[in-house]
Order: sequence, then structure tokens, then C-alpha cells
Amino acid sequence: MHCPTCYSTKFQLSRVRPGDRLQLLFFRYPVRCRKCAGRAFASRAFANHLRKLGKLSPNDYGERA
Ligand SMILES: [Zn+2]
Repeated sequence: MHCPTCYSTKFQLSRVRPGDRLQLLFFRYPVRCRKCAGRAFASRAFANHLRKLGKLSPNDYGERA
């Protein structure tokens, strides 16, 4: 995916905010662009990929699974 603002492909996981609940229901996860720090939503697969790179623990992610 590309950042909607700067078209960068470099992202990191972003912390879930209360307002993100609706997105999470649709398996959209918040990510933050490393270049412009813009926020966007990515697929679960993409979020898992970022998580493996290792920034936030699953607990920080607010998942119950
Ligand atoms: Zn960006």
C-alpha cells in the first residue's frame, strides 16, 4: 500500500485509538507513515507484517483474538 499523502510505502504500526473501533470491525488496522507521519488504515495481513518487524507488543494493539 501507499501513503495517501506522500505515496511512501514505509509504514509502522500506530496505536489504536477509541475512534478506530469501526475500522477494526472491518479488519482495518491503523498504521503511520514513516516519511510524513500521516495515519492510514491497512489490511490485517499488512499489519501483521509490520508487527513482525517488531515495534509494538500484541497487548498494545488491543486485540483479543
Ligand atoms: Zn506519508
